[in-house]
Amino acid sequence: MTQEHGGAPLEGAGEMSRGEELVLRDEQQLLYLLALTCLPFWLVDSLSVMRPTWDTLALRLGWAGLTGVMGWSLRWLGPSRRRLVRTVAGVVVPNVFLAVVVHRLGGASNPLFSWFFVMPLMTLTVSRGELWQGVLSTLMPVVAAGTLMGLEGMAPVPMVTRLLLLMGAGAVGMQMSSFYRRLKQARTRAEEDQRAVQEELVASQARALHTERLAQVGRLAAGVAHEVKNPLAYVQANLRFLLEERQPTADGNDAEYTEALQETLQGVERIHQIVKDLTTVSRAEETAQCVGRCELVPVIESSMRLASVRLKSLVKLAVEVPPQVVAKAEPRRLEQVLLNLLLNAADAIEDAKVQGGRVAVRAEVEGERVRVMVEDNGPGIAEEHLPKLFMTFFTTKAPGKGTGLGLALSRQYVESFGGTLRAENRPEGGARFIVELLVA
Ligand code: ADP
Repeated sequence: MTQEHGGAPLEGAGEMSRGEELVLRDEQQLLYLLALTCLPFWLVDSLSVMRPTWDTLALRLGWAGLTGVMGWSLRWLGPSRRRLVRTVAGVVVPNVFLAVVVHRLGGASNPLFSWFFVMPLMTLTVSRGELWQGVLSTLMPVVAAGTLMGLEGMAPVPMVTRLLLLMGAGAVGMQMSSFYRRLKQARTRAEEDQRAVQEELVASQARALHTERLAQVGRLAAGVAHEVKNPLAYVQANLRFLLEERQPTADGNDAEYTEALQETLQGVERIHQIVKDLTTVSRAEETAQCVGRCELVPVIESSMRLASVRLKSLVKLAVEVPPQVVAKAEPRRLEQVLLNLLLNAADAIEDAKVQGGRVAVRAEVEGERVRVMVEDNGPGIAEEHLPKLFMTFFTTKAPGKGTGLGLALSRQYVESFGGTLRAENRPEGGARFIVELLVA
């Protein structure tokens, strides 16, 4: 999160969240306000003795200046020092200065003495509801007023009565301060929540755009496949014709010619198959059939063929599937699931720059269930990512590369067949994705 500072860097204050920055500003404003409000009370000082009291004006200027400087210094302090300075400025300084001012104006008999009853309420606003600060806010006026009354030699009964009243005011203040603190916390939390929601909204709009672009590419791929299919068909037919209708060469040795033609034909047939698979996958949503008997070998072969377009240059592909296994699934969707798992394995191996990358597809039947496993020797899945892997939009890939939809959709498909899809790390390294289906 970016940090916004109005002034110099926060030495020792560390990284500050936006919420903390708001709290700091609040604290500073409160101390500046305390500094300012003590000044007009000089008029009350003068009124209480019916003459201008220059000594208390000097005291109040000192009081305001000290509180202001302390408020200003908060920005440069770490959290624990900030709390200490705030407490001294908001609780200790006002009580000490008030005691001295009242003493200069004649002591407990001066009407200003009653201000000690307000002190706990005032200082508690600075304490932010913390217990020890609450206790201090209550005790400081008791100590300051008690010292003043003790110095004057006041009789014990009126002195104790006043001290009890002061403690009562403190208790009320503590309650109010805790309410005030909860209110402030709720406001900060609400602001942070609102910002998080806005950020999530912007991010999900970007993801929606990206998904839309991907869908467009998918539709384009289907169109390209369709366009390629026709010329491919007659190239294929012509090659067959050449192979079947060839004339022997002059020396009667046409082995090389035949081999070259056969190789070309195989290549073309492979392109044809890939184009067919691509069309099937891109139309999976439109052509999805009912869940039923699904032969695993052709589905696995077709997804591996498609994936091999990307996997071939990166990894060695191995397959170990018993023949004639029939599972309960919808072939096109299962193909999409396996394709996604294979492409993810390729991405993981490529991103981690693994040398000698290997991907294997294995299947085994156990009772009523058949397990298809896609394994790789990539970096595996970080422990903290395992629980989030199948959540929509969870991706660790660079923006523009991953959408975080593949696994979520795959699990949805497999569950619609009555099966399960889970992930684990292989003890020997790399990831394993297990598709468990019912035998049909
Ligand atoms: P995307 O591929 O768009 O990121 P997925 O839902 O297919 O979305 O995958 C989600 C995340 O799962 C990937 O970003 C990656 O972090 C992790 N993942 C998937 N397959 C593997 C794998 N074979 N090895 C390591 N991590 C993987």
